[in-house]
This record gives sequence, structure tokens and C-alpha cells, in this order.
Amino acid sequence: MQYHSTRGQSPEVDSAQAVLTGLAPDGGLYLPCALPAFSWRSCIQKNTLDMAQMILSAFLPDIPDMQTLVEKAYVGKFETEDLTPTVSVGGFHVLELFRGPTSAFKDVALSMLPQLLTAAKAAKNEKKDILILTATSGDTGKAALEGFKDVDGIRICVFYPHGGVSDVQRRQMVSQEGENVTVCAVRGNFDDAQTGVKEIFAACREKDLPVNLSSANSINIGRLVPQITYYFKAYRDLLDAGRIQMGEEVNFSVPTGNFGDILAGYLAKKLGLPVGKLICASNANNVLTDFIRTGTYDRRRVLHKTDSPSMDILVSSNLERLLYLMSGDTALVARLMNELNTQGYYQVPQQLLTEIQEQFWAGWCDDAKGAETIAKVWRENGYLCDTHTASGWAVAQDYVNRTGDMRPMVVLSTASPYKFPAAVLNAIGETVNGDEFDQLDKLAAVTGVKIPKNLAALREKPERHTAVIDKEKMLDFVLAL
Ligand SMILES: *Cc1c(COP(=O)(O)O)cnc(C)c1O
Repeated sequence: MQYHSTRGQSPEVDSAQAVLTGLAPDGGLYLPCALPAFSWRSCIQKNTLDMAQMILSAFLPDIPDMQTLVEKAYVGKFETEDLTPTVSVGGFHVLELFRGPTSAFKDVALSMLPQLLTAAKAAKNEKKDILILTATSGDTGKAALEGFKDVDGIRICVFYPHGGVSDVQRRQMVSQEGENVTVCAVRGNFDDAQTGVKEIFAACREKDLPVNLSSANSINIGRLVPQITYYFKAYRDLLDAGRIQMGEEVNFSVPTGNFGDILAGYLAKKLGLPVGKLICASNANNVLTDFIRTGTYDRRRVLHKTDSPSMDILVSSNLERLLYLMSGDTALVARLMNELNTQGYYQVPQQLLTEIQEQFWAGWCDDAKGAETIAKVWRENGYLCDTHTASGWAVAQDYVNRTGDMRPMVVLSTASPYKFPAAVLNAIGETVNGDEFDQLDKLAAVTGVKIPKNLAALREKPERHTAVIDKEKMLDFVLAL
């Protein structure tokens, strides 16, 4: 299957090459030239792993033996065999995406990506090793490290913003084991780290390095496609529980940063799944709310540090894919992305905005409202959610209140509350003392919710990665690896 760039200035490549390359040479993102033919009804008959296999094979047919890759990626790695359970809470349905090896939803994709990359490398007979460079706002880094650790022929280097991730997230990363991993803090915020990584890619393009660079961020199509599966899985769960009738439309509220998760939902809809509205939930960094409401995307604002750090993003890379999917116009996408780069904002044509608004609704939630939501959901339903999930919940509630749309609502839960114990303790009215481990213990003691095994085990793990560098030094750091 052929892929092309959203900016239309790069040669078409097959699906294995698209996974290997990550970012297209013209700076665009890869998408299939035509979406695959797909039977959504037969997909939802399947168990989770077979769903994943069916969806991945449809999008990435040039990567052989998908069934084996899916098994290697997922079997025995998640708390539950069905990977992503759906639980009904207070009138909504919570899709729990955080039951994987690092307790964040990124595990779903980053357990799979190393398998896809390794297989794509073999399919393309590529001999050079791959160096994965990733900037993280907190969760991608750990999930990628865990996914790629000790994978043959691949090394990984993760940059995170110094002081910009939660204590638990930092601890998860700096204690990472594995012979092929490097973790480094950068003085700056997430956008600085991400810009630094992009500059390294640009600087290395002309150099003849002994390795090929690649990325674990959701610009890689191999990172995006595995996320489509859980929309089908949630639909199936609601059917099985008798909560919906076959064919009935379901709304999804998605805590959003880089727009990868919610774009996977849009792709599920394009494959035929009866998805109603896709609700884009942001935190105080509400650039997407403004965009979806007005058609103007404007990154010229300060980045707020919030209690939901994985959504502290001003440039949502995957929005570019949506603009292409909805307009079909590579010249338009290239122009808008150039404007974003040079002047810091762009405005989409009215027709395109209208079409986006038919599919998406957007809202945002600040830290205070998020805390209120965590407290309310806990008090009324005995369900403990994290700060990111809280924004999804609050915005979903806001949507229902404002529109009266009563279609079933699935709220995607993207992290375990134990990744952000201080914020969650504060939210439910408990005082916060001590280090991150005292906080984990206290949260468990007052709620009775179990600490995920991987987080409980952190206490015993020494800090192995201590580098902190200025953002200007990122290239030197990588060249010295
Ligand atoms: C990454 C992340 C998000 C945002 O997902 P995108 O695909 O970047 O929109 C939301 N919540 C958590 C916990 C995350 O780790």
C-alpha cells in the first residue's frame, strides 16, 4: 500500500518504508494514498488481539506476519488480557488505556512500534541500526524506553523537560534499565525539547551517520495505527454489556495534546465504526479549543505548566493529518504549515472549518476544574481518575450540558492516577507530604485503589540517568552517544 506526505512534495513510499522513515522528507506526515477497504462489522466480532492484527494489516500490508508481531507486542504485558477495559461510571463509560507496562495510554502504541520498526527494517533489507530520538512531555518517554529496551538493532535516546514532568514520571525514566537506552533532561519546556529533536533530524539529514534516525512520537504512522484498535474494542465492550445496539453512534471524549489519540478515533470512524462526535479536551493550553471553535490556530501564547503535563503542548503535530484528510489538498496543508512555522498562526478556509466542526467539538478545563472533577467522580462514583482523564470527563460533561446530545459517551482514560499522586491527593482534599513514594502510599491508603505494580517497584530502582543539559547542547549530546 502506498503512502504519501501530507505536504505532497515527497515521493510515495510503501507502508513499511513509511514506518521506517517516520517524518516525510518534505516535513509532512505520511498517510495512505487511499484508506483501506475495511469491514468494521467483522472487526468488532474479534477479540482484542485479532482486532489489532486486522487493523494493522489493513494499514501496513507491507509488513509481514502481523499476527506474530501483535502477540510479541502485547501478550503478557498488560494487566488484563483484553488490554483496554471499558467500565461504566456515573452515566459515562471510561475506556481505561492505562493498564500497560508504564501505566499510560502510550503503552498501547509503543508496545507495538518496536515490533513494526524491526519488521519494516527486515522487509526493506535495511542494515543500519536505528537510533530513536524522542522528546517527551512525560509519558511517551517511559513508554518508548520500555518498548524499545534491549530490542536488537535499535537504540533510543529520550529528552524530557527538566522540572516539567511529574516526580513519578521522572523517576520512571531515570531508573530505566536496558543496554540500548539513554535518558537526558533538557533545561526548557516540552516544546523546546521537541524543537531540539527536530533540529537534530535536520542537522543530521546531510551527514552520513552510522545509524538511521527515527522517532517514537506520533508523527510515525506506526505509532498512530495501533491506537485505532481501542475505539473498536470500546464499541465492542458496550455492545457486549448491552449498553448500545449494533450500529448505534457513540461519542468519544479524548484528553488531547499532540492530536494523535483523537485522530485515531477519526480514522476508526473513517473505517466505518459508528462514531458520533469526537470531543477534543484540552487543559489550560487550549490552542485546539480555539482552533476548533474559530478556525484560527495560533501558537503565539505562553505554554502553561499544568497538572496534566502530557497535554502541555502548543503545536499539535497530528492536526496536520486531519487537515489533509478533510481537505484532500496537499498544497493547502503545505501552505498552512509554512504559515504556522513562519508567522506562528494560520486560518483554515470556512468550508474546512465547517466540516471539522461537524466531526469534532472542543473544550478545555483548567487545573482547578480538573481537581473538582476528580473529587466529584471519586465522591459520587468511587472511581479515581487522573488529571488528564479529568479534563476529558469535565469537557464531556460540558458538551452534554451545552448540546443535550444524549448519545452514549466514552471518556478515554489516558493515565493511572498513580502517575500524578500529588495532584490527585490534593484534588480529593488530602494533604501532600514527603516524596513521590510517600504520596503513592498515601493515595493507596486513603482510596483503597491498588498501586500498579510497575510504579510500586520504582522505589527499589536506582537512578541511572542523571544528565541535565542546555537545549542548545542536544545535538552535541546525540553525536557523542
Ligand atoms: C500523550 C498523552 C495525552 C495526549 O495524547 P495525544 O495523542 O498527544 O493527543 C493525554 N493524556 C496522557 C496521559 C498522555 O500521556
